[in-house]
Amino acid sequence: MSAQLIDGNALSKQLRAEVSARAAALRARGTTPGLAVILVGDNPASQVYVRNKVKACHDSGLHSVLEQYPATMSEAELLARIEALNADAAIHGILVQLPLPAHIDAHKVIETISPAKDVDGFHVASAGALVVGQPGFKPCTPYGCMKMLESIGCDPKGKHAVVIGRSNIVGKPMALMLLAASATVTVCHSATPDLGAMTRQADIVVAAVGKRNVLTAEMVKPGAVVIDVGMNRDDAGKLCGDVDFAGVSKVAGWITPVPGGVGPMTITMLLVNTIEAAERAAT
Ligand code: NAP
Repeated sequence: MSAQLIDGNALSKQLRAEVSARAAALRARGTTPGLAVILVGDNPASQVYVRNKVKACHDSGLHSVLEQYPATMSEAELLARIEALNADAAIHGILVQLPLPAHIDAHKVIETISPAKDVDGFHVASAGALVVGQPGFKPCTPYGCMKMLESIGCDPKGKHAVVIGRSNIVGKPMALMLLAASATVTVCHSATPDLGAMTRQADIVVAAVGKRNVLTAEMVKPGAVVIDVGMNRDDAGKLCGDVDFAGVSKVAGWITPVPGGVGPMTITMLLVNTIEAAERAAT
């Protein structure tokens, strides 16, 4: 069997066109959706991420403000900036790029963002809303994975989904979203004794680990849907995922590539959340 590709770039293009149309409708009613992106320090990877997010906003007709501060910024100064953005009616979403310098408590920073503007979906209020099934902002990466499943007509209801990884930003919210969609969900992590025994039962596998070749062909049920969230470098320095793509794509029914899979969807869902925040504020 040769798996079909789930093309994150193509799906992103379609979803971003919908974002542009919603942004235009909001502008016509006098509201320009606005995202504030805060970067503290000069982490080169973070600089690339924030530039991509700001560019994606502009391309879709959203207003965005990039605030860059030196690594010496104090926690109190950063919290004061967030409070000011919470009160700024032109800003509907606030994103603080992680990681933050060690002297700043990231949890405290995220909890200072107003839940109404928490477009990353990392605030405890957003996480709690996801647990109890109330409206809130969903973390962008797992939200994008759900959209990918939807795009191929894969309804998780009644399926067995295995999520590898239990981080607060990917694995846990991914498991909760699949559960909300009525999948039977197994969450695996570094203490799972026999990962293959779990993944071989899965109709849907989501790998969110950060290690190459965590999922290989013999660990996958024929025809399964495989979503690869991982972002790693291979020996040649090329971007690759957690999944042995060459092997698994011979067994799976559907698979996401890296690059061009989950990555573009993450930024797209940030735009979707920002539009949603602006629409809520405008009503
Ligand atoms: P993380 O916080 O480091 O979590 C990794 C998870 O993998 C942990 O729960 C860990 O288990 C588990 N794990 C580690 N080794 C394992 C193994 N051998 N078998 C099974 N589970 C194992 O990472 P993250 O922030 O969730 O990110 C995961 C990956 O996704 C990274 O490569 C990251 O770069 C990528 N990512 C991509 C996007 C995107 O837009 N494409 C967005 C976010 C993240 P323990 O909890 O037991 O330690």
